[in-house]
Amino acid sequence: MEYEGQICRAPMERSSFMLPIMVGCSYNRCRFCNLFRHLKYRELPFEQIEAELARVKNVGGNPRRIFLGDGNAFAQKSDRLMRILDMIRQYFPECEEINMDATVTSILKRSDAELEAFYKLGVRHLYLGVESGLDDVLAFMEKDHDQGQAYEAIERLHRIGMIYDAHIMTGVAGQGRGTENARALAEFLNQTKPAHVVNFSMFLHKEVPLYQNILDGSFVPASERENLEEERCLIELLTADILYDGFHDFIEFRVRGRIPKDKEKMLARLDKVIEETPETEVYSYVQGECPALERCGGGNVWQIG
Ligand code: SF4
Repeated sequence: MEYEGQICRAPMERSSFMLPIMVGCSYNRCRFCNLFRHLKYRELPFEQIEAELARVKNVGGNPRRIFLGDGNAFAQKSDRLMRILDMIRQYFPECEEINMDATVTSILKRSDAELEAFYKLGVRHLYLGVESGLDDVLAFMEKDHDQGQAYEAIERLHRIGMIYDAHIMTGVAGQGRGTENARALAEFLNQTKPAHVVNFSMFLHKEVPLYQNILDGSFVPASERENLEEERCLIELLTADILYDGFHDFIEFRVRGRIPKDKEKMLARLDKVIEETPETEVYSYVQGECPALERCGGGNVWQIG
């Protein structure tokens, strides 16, 4: 199968068989996200999905973990998703888990019976874009949930045995609010107990709506130093058993480990990089524009100019 757009998945899924079942993200509205903004969302035909399963089987593949792409694959209609999960079981009966990204509302719209059916068909890890612990930040960034809804969705997942993993983003609350966000997020994560937390840290692009907020002053980005300080505060406050992985691609820094066992080592690494990072002037801006931007089109796709 030819993959379209960017391949995006959490590092824990790097050795999974990535099976795209759609192109792009059906939500595609988070103000900071450029992953699929240049793509028109569409569901891939069953024939194409089955052809990919057959191709992998014919070359001797027998994946134990499958990751369904692209963004927010869990939002597919229930009957369509069940048909795809059934197809996977037919080709790979030994597959132990089928994982994918999800939004909070894509969970809340399901009945308990549907969630149980997905579990029986092999769905285990759902990766949720939790991003922030603050409701006003979630609303500003046009996430599709607030904290109350996230608690409810995760509680329902846990009740039927599914595993939730959190994507977060230091810097998402903007300049001067890193510590406030870290405290709120730590409380949320300690209570909801994700298996993994992945911090993708804010990476600012020109081709997303948030760039307009930066230009008109309604969003002031935090510096890389503040993002690192926010991460330090968060890790210090985390007490739940969590495998944590934090990236700061712009300054090529990564901190990972199991909390609480590795906490002190992680904090020491952060202290060192905080000391080496200038107080101001380092922002994770990407000044270039998306090379595929001319492919943008349609109602909810934001374009420059
Ligand atoms: S749901 Fe995920 S992939 Fe879709 S726009 Fe939001 S952050 Fe991007």
